[in-house]
Amino acid sequence: MNRAKATNDPSMKNILMGFSGGPSSRAMLQLLHQYTSSHNKYGELKILFIDESLATEDHGDHLGCIQKIAKLYPFELIIKRIEEPMGSKEAFLDAFNGLFLYHLREDFLSSLRHSLLVHTARESKCSMLLLGDSATRIAIKTISLTSKGRGFSLPFEVAAESSCYEGLSIIRPMRDNLSKEVALYNHHTQLYHPSIKSILYKTKPKASIDRITEEFIAGLDSGFPSTVSTIVRTANKLTPSTNLAPGIWCPLCINPAETNISAWIDSIAVRKLTSSPALEASLDTVAELLCYGCRTSWQESKGIALPAYAVNYSEQQKSKRELLRNQIADFLLE
Ligand SMILES: [Zn+2]
Repeated sequence: MNRAKATNDPSMKNILMGFSGGPSSRAMLQLLHQYTSSHNKYGELKILFIDESLATEDHGDHLGCIQKIAKLYPFELIIKRIEEPMGSKEAFLDAFNGLFLYHLREDFLSSLRHSLLVHTARESKCSMLLLGDSATRIAIKTISLTSKGRGFSLPFEVAAESSCYEGLSIIRPMRDNLSKEVALYNHHTQLYHPSIKSILYKTKPKASIDRITEEFIAGLDSGFPSTVSTIVRTANKLTPSTNLAPGIWCPLCINPAETNISAWIDSIAVRKLTSSPALEASLDTVAELLCYGCRTSWQESKGIALPAYAVNYSEQQKSKRELLRNQIADFLLE
């Protein structure tokens, strides 16, 4: 919260906190309460819990536990379901079950989760969105996102503070704390939290890129305790690409995206990635606007149905990109 304090912008009043129910966000909730109790410069504080039980098939009473925790604080609790962006449970399950690889499922959930966080912050008129990524999580994200070809948006996804969306700052106040430190803090302050299982629960260590990275970082960190902080320090030095166009983001993961992905892929690919005429035909619609990581995942998933927000965003993005192209037309080589 020191970082939030330093912002000192009178327009940044309402705060939305993404509360996954995990140890780091549980500690962040407590620290946020302590901080805002003595600093009344913030307006409304809200907590967002995204119920992912439809994907994880974990039917424990986590919602009850989350509600019980939220009642300890004077913050409004907002509950959203991971399937909401897809319109219905059936549409979500069709798309989710159609993804046979774990890393595609992770990417799909991650996009829906991020869109719900940003959308809810806007809907509830919050100009600050707090996420509870610990240093350990930042280290895992740095390696796994790089491996998945998501390096372009990496500086935004691991930054202590990023403002890639107009009027909304995303802040990660827990990013200097190792997961071990968070666990110790929770233990000593007797903060309980539900044990919510992820989709990778019970999977083998090689089930997905995220799972392999988790194992790799945990293994390395037990032998070399400075591993996580070294990766986080390196991630701190990342700066957004100079190709970044303001207001242009991927319609699916809604992270900043490059504008010329198709041309770049064509220049480096030895074969075409598209495998079906239907997929080929649809590339001129939403897919051509996707970032490299989402485009690769989407093609691997044989073009599953995209959530409604992705289709809406793509319409907005098309007109923005058209405008941008017209603005720079005079500088382009024929
Ligand atoms: Zn994307």
